[in-house]
Amino acid sequence: METRQQPTSRTDFHLCIVVPCHNEEGNVAELHRRLCEAVRPVAQVTFLFVDDGSTDGTLAELGRLQAQDDRVRHIALSRNFGHQNALKAGLDHAPGDVVISMDADLQHPPELIPALLERWQAGFDVVQTIRADDRRLPWAKRMTTKAFHAVSRRLFSIDLPPGASDFRLLDRKVTDAIRNLEEDHLFLRGLVQWAGFRQTVLPFEPGSRFAGSTQYSWRRMFALAFSGITSFSVMPLRLAFLLGFTIAFLAGIYGCYVIGIHLFTDRTVAGWTSTTASVLFIGGIQLIMLGIVGEYLGKAFMEGKKRPNYLIRERSI
Ligand code: UDP
Ligand code: MG
Repeated sequence: METRQQPTSRTDFHLCIVVPCHNEEGNVAELHRRLCEAVRPVAQVTFLFVDDGSTDGTLAELGRLQAQDDRVRHIALSRNFGHQNALKAGLDHAPGDVVISMDADLQHPPELIPALLERWQAGFDVVQTIRADDRRLPWAKRMTTKAFHAVSRRLFSIDLPPGASDFRLLDRKVTDAIRNLEEDHLFLRGLVQWAGFRQTVLPFEPGSRFAGSTQYSWRRMFALAFSGITSFSVMPLRLAFLLGFTIAFLAGIYGCYVIGIHLFTDRTVAGWTSTTASVLFIGGIQLIMLGIVGEYLGKAFMEGKKRPNYLIRERSI
């Protein structure tokens, strides 16, 4: 399995570039052009595009590229399975000694590839790129990403470097390790971090999206963040317990006070307002707790089905 003996600066290795694409017809040709420039010194290259159920001309465009350049290969998924699953499909089928994953929209500059390979040849198994704080992204998106990373690190001990994206290099042995993972609700950034091996980071200045528009709506970003946290940590369950405990404790003190009033004074407790308020409050808290427990139960349920992360309609690899 181990193909690389000693890190050297030789160029006769096999590099595979994995690119998940969903409605990227305007980007793939330009990406291919810039990739060709970037990998010129490498002897053997495979460009593996994963079409994630695009509804535009992405697949036709990939066919055209494949006719021009037989290093281009594709996998077409049976429908849209989402970025993380498309990426997993690519990693699962990627040949070669070293694999680089990147987005199709040119926000991940292909010109960085030689620098990634240099780190690999220096002996690292994972080279994670870090997006330099991008002034062109909307302020709200930058802030939420920052907040997510800070919260994951402090609260849930998932130490993702801030600005970590899915632009990274993986050695064959790391790709094999990830291929064997069969979990639902993939959060590859976290899994790569979890996998260990010799890791390093490389900052980069992100480009602008070349054509089309972002597929990550607020809803999808929130879903990814939530999935990331609940796949890697049971801390939310613990927080739920702590919150429940605190409230129950306070309610207990209040209960003693109420009983005291009842037993030792003749003040009638009108109490309607406080009763309603506390019932509603406790009810709300209970619903939140149930929701959190339900989230984990739902994950166990989906996992129990052992459904594959993606289905392939056709592939040329
Ligand atoms: N993508 C995908 N499936 C999806 C959504 C996105 O394969 O359901 C791909 C998309 O084509 C791109 C990458 O994932 O190559 C990142 O998507 P996008 O650029 O929309 O995300 P952003 O850069 O805004 O976070
Ligand atoms: Mg993008």
